[in-house]
Amino acid sequence: MGAALEIRNLHVNVAETGESILRGVDLTIKQGEVHALMGPNGSGKSTLANVLLGNPAYEVTAGQIIFDGEDLLDMEPDDRSRAGLFLAFQYPVSIPGVTVANFLRQAINARMKAEDPDSKGITVPQFTRLLRGKMNELEMDHSFAGRYLNEGFSGGEKKRAEILQMATLEPKIAILDETDSGLDIDALRIVSEGVNRLKGPDLGVLVITHYQRILNYIQPEHVHVMFKGQIVESGGPELALKLEEAGYEWVREKHNIAE
Ligand code: ADP
Ligand code: MG
Repeated sequence: MGAALEIRNLHVNVAETGESILRGVDLTIKQGEVHALMGPNGSGKSTLANVLLGNPAYEVTAGQIIFDGEDLLDMEPDDRSRAGLFLAFQYPVSIPGVTVANFLRQAINARMKAEDPDSKGITVPQFTRLLRGKMNELEMDHSFAGRYLNEGFSGGEKKRAEILQMATLEPKIAILDETDSGLDIDALRIVSEGVNRLKGPDLGVLVITHYQRILNYIQPEHVHVMFKGQIVESGGPELALKLEEAGYEWVREKHNIAE
């Protein structure tokens, strides 16, 4: 049986102010499934991603998150990654002088050493073979691996680095939160192409976006709509189609959600 990320009745506050943001979120993502979490700005999508990442700015006041049978909230962020959960922006660093390839090799080595302190890590030829294979799968130019990580990267290039990181770390479940900036159509296209190429029985994905025309880019089997810290609608691709045609207003009306 594959791994699953199970979010049950999750309630989350802003740690500093106690302001309530997530108010009973239920969501299960299994390996092999592609989910989209949609919803207007400010609905709590990024807060959910941050809680999965272990951001201390947020406090879980009720509910559970189970990943592959274990209590995720008990795990350090590094352990979450090692257990096979990938969160975009996990390593938002830009280290001058470190290439994309070096960075990815270090990430793999760190994981191998955490599992086995005596591990010597991945050899250069093994790593080169792995990276080339992944770049071919993603149809990425090999020269990208030699660039300095995030140094002068465009928003799209940062997304490419993120997708390549996901491809090489081979997570069980990946959470990709799109920013709500003007970049996000381009970013969503890059992320979606990557997900479409990498998806398979061993990878579960949650793509978070407020972008309603998501079906032009990605084909999620499951679509969820968040409003004011709760998932108020879940369905198949037809739900995304409806949002594309009619926007979010009908959701607001159906559930009597105030502006
Ligand atoms: P989304 O990603 O759906 O646009 P967010 O999760 O970023 O929504 O934000 C949900 C709500 O919680 C917003 O009203 C936002 O202002 C508030 N919020 C999120 N994080 C914080 C924080 N660290 N401090 C204060 N308010 C926050
Ligand atoms: Mg957001």
